[in-house]
Amino acid sequence: MRTVLNFIDGHPVAGSLGRMFDNISPGDGSLLGRVYEAGADDVDQAVAAARAALHGHWGSLDIPERAAMLHAVAAEIERRFDDFVEAEVADTGKPASLARHLDIPRGAANFRIFADMVRNVPAESFEMRAPDGARVLNYAIRRPKGVIAVVCPWNLPLLLMTWKVGPALACGNTVVVKPSEETPSTATLLGEVMKAAGVPDGVYNVVHGFGPGSAGEFLTRHPGVDAITFTGETTTGSAIMKAAADGVRGVSFELGGKNPAIVFADADLEAAVEGTARSVFANCGQVCLGTERVYVERPLFDRFVAALKQRAEALRPGDPHDPGTSLGPLISRQHREKVLSYYRQAVEDGAEVVTGGGIPAMPSALAGGAWIQPTIWTGLDDSSRVVREEIFGPCCHIRPFDSEAEAVRLANDTPYGLAAAVWTRDLSRAHRMAGVLNVGICWINSWFLRDLRTPFGGARQSGIGREGGVHSLEFYTELTNVCVRL
Ligand code: NAD
Repeated sequence: MRTVLNFIDGHPVAGSLGRMFDNISPGDGSLLGRVYEAGADDVDQAVAAARAALHGHWGSLDIPERAAMLHAVAAEIERRFDDFVEAEVADTGKPASLARHLDIPRGAANFRIFADMVRNVPAESFEMRAPDGARVLNYAIRRPKGVIAVVCPWNLPLLLMTWKVGPALACGNTVVVKPSEETPSTATLLGEVMKAAGVPDGVYNVVHGFGPGSAGEFLTRHPGVDAITFTGETTTGSAIMKAAADGVRGVSFELGGKNPAIVFADADLEAAVEGTARSVFANCGQVCLGTERVYVERPLFDRFVAALKQRAEALRPGDPHDPGTSLGPLISRQHREKVLSYYRQAVEDGAEVVTGGGIPAMPSALAGGAWIQPTIWTGLDDSSRVVREEIFGPCCHIRPFDSEAEAVRLANDTPYGLAAAVWTRDLSRAHRMAGVLNVGICWINSWFLRDLRTPFGGARQSGIGREGGVHSLEFYTELTNVCVRL
């Protein structure tokens, strides 16, 4: 059994509480290991170490040197690729093929892309005349914002954490990371990588624990934290925003969603079914950008439902290391209870269960895991909680529509605004739709394809701010305008 430690000031540490919590395998319910919980004193130490590193070597490094070090971090992640895959698969139960193709490569890419970006940021400058005719040069310089708290969810642990840590460090900040209590392992492993890559002690720190009354709250309330970047549920975002109000700290939030896919009758049916199946069932539906509402133009409706049903039923849950496995478990039995409550609600609300709706029969070795059937419903009213609330499981409701205007109205009828996918061969219509859907990212005839230099984030209750490319700079740096009378 393994022990997961905090990582403070360049060292793995147990912490002051001497208390541990269990790290449970979602695949079979077994005890994977135990995790040392950080107390308020440990969070203090981590923030102090991050502050010292900010004012020490890291803050004074030239950008090319800092960028080179982040490239070394990426290379070290790749050197320890199998360790990362193993840790991520153990914590999440996801198929190893997914971790190999998505989570871990993106973990490395998140350091490379931002290292390259900060080397290529143009500076703003303006020349003007003072009232007496003297020339005046204005130019803006970017400085690191300071100590950044990075609070992460469990669905794509390394990928989403490095999506924040990469740009934060590239911009010269130092970080204290609070990974999800469900998936602690890769954050601590990244500490080892930082050390091996020569990143100075204190630049990257990890404190383990929970949210309220634990490391998450201690960190986000800490007066030594200059800004908070958070990915997780909208209600948690709201709690963190209150904590950030003291000291008027900046926040960047990537929150929940209830994302629509809109399939027009002229769509390439095969591509639309394939893309929608991925967006509903990938990572067992635990992707913030995933689809939970599908709207299909009426002439295509029956064929689409039948084809998506076939895809759902072809998914194979099982051992993550078996190459034939295409569906992992949910993150925990507790989360499964939540998802199953929506499965029951759908039936109570009069849904037709097209497929799934329960727990699959699994071999006895995996029976203790958080397995769940991929599920499709039709026939729900637009007011059903199942159609309105984020479920975060491998499920969707499919509803017919009769006009473009109706599709837009239905898609936008949500407090969320993260992502949408539009499937049509009519490109004029696709562009029209993208212009009126109230979302942070709109896919046309695709899903989960994105250049990391583009803005990422959600509208409405799906987030605050945008990260990605130069947009990350806006959050992770402060601008100082320098005004020089020449
Ligand atoms: P969560 O909000 O329950 O937890 C996220 C993190 O916040 C965890 O580390 C948790 O310990 C911590 N936390 C909880 N309460 C806290 C508090 N009061 N103060 C400080 N920290 C606190 O989210 P989750 O269940 O881990 O992840 C799933 C959610 O994340 C879904 O809603 C999903 O849509 C969202 N998500 C969004 C994006 C995006 O980019 N928009 C990406 C991935 C996941």
